[in-house]
This record gives sequence, C-alpha cells and structure tokens, in this order.
Amino acid sequence: MLTAKKLVKVYNTVPAVRNVSITLEPGQIMALVGASGSGKSTLLNLLAGLTDADTGEVRLNDERVLGPSEVLVPGHKDIRLVHQEYQLMPNVSVRENIAYALRFFEKSYRDFRVNELLKLCRLTDVQDRIPRQVSGGEKQRTAIARAIADKPAVLLLDEPFSHLDLPNRLIVRDLLFDLVRHEQTSCLFVTHDATDALSIADTLGILRDGKLIQLGTPVAVYHQP
Ligand code: ADP
Ligand code: ADP
Repeated sequence: MLTAKKLVKVYNTVPAVRNVSITLEPGQIMALVGASGSGKSTLLNLLAGLTDADTGEVRLNDERVLGPSEVLVPGHKDIRLVHQEYQLMPNVSVRENIAYALRFFEKSYRDFRVNELLKLCRLTDVQDRIPRQVSGGEKQRTAIARAIADKPAVLLLDEPFSHLDLPNRLIVRDLLFDLVRHEQTSCLFVTHDATDALSIADTLGILRDGKLIQLGTPVAVYHQP
C-alpha cells in the first residue's frame, strides 16, 4: 500500500502541492485530474521519490520512500513512473528496451518475462523494431512494459492517454486492467482529461492549485455539489 501523508512542495514561493494525502491499495486504479499547473507532475515525482517534499512523507507499506537528497540513486525500486515522453533508448529494439529493465536477471527468466510482457502489451509483432519505427501507442506500451518488467508494487503514469488516439486508449486501458488483475499492481495516473479518468479509475481525485479538493469513487465525486 502506498500512502502519502500531508505532502507539501513549494517552488520558490509558488505552492505546487499543498497538503495532499492519498492511499493507494494493491490492485487499485486511481486517477488524479487537474488542469495544467495544478501540481500533477510534482505530485507524481514526490510519490516516486524523485522530488524532495518540503514536509509530509510517502510510504510504501512500512517503509518510508526517500527523496533524492537522501539516497544516491533516486527512485524506489518498487515504484515506477512512466513519463509522458516515454524516454526509450532510441537505438535498440522494443524487445531490448524491455529486456534492459531485467538485465540483472538470469537469461532464461529474462527471455520468458520479456515474451510475457510483449504479449500483455501487444508488442510481439513489433519487438524487433526500434522506437522510431513504431507508432506512438506502441512506444507508450513499450514504456509501460519496461516499467512493469520486474513487477513493481506501484505504477505511476503521467498523462498516459494524452498522445493516443481512441483505439490506443482502449488498448492501454485494457492493459492497465489486466495488470492490476494479474499482477496486483497499484496504478495511479494523472490526466487533464476527466473522460480518461472516468473510463478506468475506481478512485478519482481532483487537484486544483496543488490541493486535492475531492477524492472518492467517480460516482461520488461527480455527484458532489
Ligand atoms: P501540472 O503537472 O499539473 O501541470 P506541475 O506540478 O508541473 O503541474 O506544476 C505545479 C506548479 O508548480 C506550477 O505553478 C508550476 O509552474 C510550478 N513548478 C513546477 N515545477 C517547477 C520547478 N521546477 N520550478 C519552479 N516552479 C515549478
Ligand atoms: P501515432 O501515429 O501512433 O500517433 P506518433 O505520432 O507518435 O505515432 O509518431 C509518428 C511517427 O513520428 C513515428 O512513426 C516516428 O517515425 C516519428 N516519431 C514520433 N515520436 C518519435 C520519437 N520520440 N523519436 C523519433 N521519432 C519519433
């Protein structure tokens, strides 16, 4: 379980995240919706241990997630963040991009797991192409496959649908459903588009000016005055 308690982050004098607390259970899919500048990216980076909070803390189960000022290699191994720009290695294949995340595993397991991920993410047919030779949706799925390769407890995604057309949105949506169902991963994504959030999340939060102003089931949030 991932918990954030009273997270605060101020840049210079601009409050980016103000007193945000959330709990993410295994198998839960949470969406945080907010306009540009509402603090979505900052919050994701705080949850991933990639930004130091001014106050408040993030915990994964009983362990505190340390910020970059506290560790040599920022980021927690059980919490993965998929950036909006995917950040794939441009000169190696889709398959090798995914396999790289498993480089410390024995080859036979690595081959097995990569094949499983290619299938889950519907990338088997394009596995030998380099990122430049695949579509935006396929790049997105490669980034997700890489992020979930060694079965992190938590997957965080920055605007995972915003660059995708409708067929690809549906594929990624199904992929996230499969992921939480088969691997008990928790997913949290941020988006400026409430439609994406409503179509997939079991919990919906609304961010405004760095504050989490509502949090609940999509039905409850939408019917709250
Ligand atoms: P969102 O992802 O919802 O667009 P951000 O988390 O990027 O929101 O930004 C929240 C607020 O913090 C904005 O006012 C933004 O200008 C400010 N901000 C974000 N990152 C920085 C930074 N590195 N330095 C200064 N201000 C920042
Ligand atoms: P889609 O048609 O699925 O929306 P994109 O618009 O992302 O795909 O990509 C269209 C084409 O633009 C790709 O096939 C590729 O040739 C090129 N392209 C897109 N993103 C990148 C990138 N990050 N690096 C190199 N080429 C890219």
